[in-house]
Amino acid sequence: MSGDRATPTLPVVSFVAVSKTYAGNVTALNDVHLSIGYGEFACVVGPSGSGKSTMLHLMGTLDRPSGGRIVIDGYDVAGLSDREVSALRAQRIGFVFQQFHLAVGVPVLDTVADGLLYAGVPLRERRRRAARALSRVGLGHRLGHLPHQLSGGERQRAAVARAVIGEPALLLADEPTGNLDSASGAAVLELLRDLHASGTTVVVITHDREMAGTFERKVEMRDGRIVSDGGPGPSAVSAAGVDDR
Ligand code: ADP
Repeated sequence: MSGDRATPTLPVVSFVAVSKTYAGNVTALNDVHLSIGYGEFACVVGPSGSGKSTMLHLMGTLDRPSGGRIVIDGYDVAGLSDREVSALRAQRIGFVFQQFHLAVGVPVLDTVADGLLYAGVPLRERRRRAARALSRVGLGHRLGHLPHQLSGGERQRAAVARAVIGEPALLLADEPTGNLDSASGAAVLELLRDLHASGTTVVVITHDREMAGTFERKVEMRDGRIVSDGGPGPSAVSAAGVDDR
């Protein structure tokens, strides 16, 4: 059982015996094993304090584990320098947060275009692609708007456009509907589903069990451990031909 080249299902996220302990001896994650394949539409669900955000931070390479092994998009994170981790994050991972995190006073076209800053794309091309990404999320008529001129749902759709403009291997969303009314939340979920349908790997973190039930795969957390995992849904695809490094 060896030889990675022959492995047909290299995952985009691999956690092996991962733990995370914070100062003060809080064990936020305890011996977590998880593998998420390219193309999945998955959610991690659990009550407050169960370790979801810690999991998202580790998947997103925003933090390093206390123990275990994490491989993201084929890269063993422990073997990368801080600079290499930043590059992996900038080029291969997109983030959507509950609070949108759009730059105050900056037109959404430029905020979304900034999603390509690290890809070495010239400004004009960044703007062109940003306009396309915003059209894709239904905001083609709002390019020059400032965040405060948009509704919550529109802001979150702009944040999604920014997250996916660089075509990341992995889109991570932390309570993406948490600040939205139910209609806007449903629209954002629908957008994530559309992105998934066109090939994006989507992992959503939520405490909302009802929403979690709409995902192809549901990973349930409690007290820092995975207590149930529905396993890969029908969209999980082989990495063969996907990993173009
Ligand atoms: P969730 O996202 O499910 O609410 P978290 O991952 O935020 O869970 O937290 C898991 C546990 O780790 C909680 O007990 C929380 O208080 C603790 N924790 C999270 N972040 C820190 C931190 N930076 N320092 C100390 N403890 C933390």
